[in-house]
Amino acid sequence: MTEKAKLVHCIVDDAQLYSDEGFYLGDLAQPISNAVKADYPGAKVTSFICSHHLLKYRMSRVDSLINADLKQSQKINRKLTKALQSDNYEIRDVNEALQQSLTFGQKISDAVARFGGSWTFIFIFIVILIIWMVINGLALFGVHFDPYPYILLNLFLSCFSAIQAPIIMMSQNRAAERDRLHSENDFHVNLKSEHELRIIHAKLDHLTQNQLPHDLEVEKLQLQILGEVRSELAKLRDENTKLKEKLKQQENQ
Ligand SMILES: [Zn+2]
Repeated sequence: MTEKAKLVHCIVDDAQLYSDEGFYLGDLAQPISNAVKADYPGAKVTSFICSHHLLKYRMSRVDSLINADLKQSQKINRKLTKALQSDNYEIRDVNEALQQSLTFGQKISDAVARFGGSWTFIFIFIVILIIWMVINGLALFGVHFDPYPYILLNLFLSCFSAIQAPIIMMSQNRAAERDRLHSENDFHVNLKSEHELRIIHAKLDHLTQNQLPHDLEVEKLQLQILGEVRSELAKLRDENTKLKEKLKQQENQ
């Protein structure tokens, strides 16, 4: 007890004690002094509370902080679990799906388009044209059913291109369908990712804005409680040695 210590009354049990055995409400953290004021509506900033009674309020503050954080974390976790489970869109293997739905005609159109768009086809075509022209132009082997300017060849070529064009278009339609399915898959994956990202963002916000400051406050409160326990222990030790001395004196007498 220093000289500066004044005599004050604890607001809880009105016991008289020194001012260094507790705190004025004005010196306490806002949430704790609010809790005291809630229990004792007459309390003011100049009211005094002893360390012993303050312990209860500090403990309940630690409790409420931890509980609030726990609740919020659980809420966000539940949201995340729900988001992960609620997605009923199944990602399809586009190539496999298209392969299974192929009709015979589509298979042929694919094969024709594939062959028609290759160098092999171009070389074979050129060779056939040259052979046709040489045979008919020079009347080799006595054959000249389509003499210069090769009108029959012209007719064949026109028919050929007339048929080839729609076949290629069929194949292109299928390519477009494949692209559409791909982008549909992408859209759903993106949507899901964005939703999850939002929740993870909320979690991160909660961690940095609530949990971290709360953790620090809890740590501070724990240190204060620990200091309280230490001073009480010192007091007890003091009383213990005094009692022992008294006992000794009594034995000596
Ligand atoms: Zn008290």
